[in-house]
Amino acid sequence: MKYTRDQVIEMTPDEYESAICDELNTAGYRSRFRGELHEYEPDESTFGGAIVFDLKAVDYLKQIGLLDNGKCPMCSVREDDLLYKLQNRQSGAVYHVCKSCYKQYAQQERAKRGLGCCLGIIMILGILIWGIIKLLS
Ligand SMILES: [Zn+2]
Repeated sequence: MKYTRDQVIEMTPDEYESAICDELNTAGYRSRFRGELHEYEPDESTFGGAIVFDLKAVDYLKQIGLLDNGKCPMCSVREDDLLYKLQNRQSGAVYHVCKSCYKQYAQQERAKRGLGCCLGIIMILGILIWGIIKLLS
């Protein structure tokens, strides 16, 4: 561990985001955007928008103590408990966030599922109507 829990908790959001990006860049990790590799840049959406898609980068951040160690990586606020677990579906990376980020994520997922459900019903109705038309003709 390079960073202790106390060090992480004392960082400001800017310091925390910078530390995450600096460490990844120094260790040779790059974000992939439209097929090109870029250095990570500190921004409040860098973690959720780029880093979580790289399982190794997430593991590296855990190893050096920047992740799951006193701060929520999504909003950089202090987070003492590891109660709210998220997993990136694409990379499989598992990490912990604060309650409010978790709620926000759960809401987005519900909205997506709701949409999927709607489309399913429309498809079934479509098949039924198509079947009725076939029967009648
Ligand atoms: Zn958060």
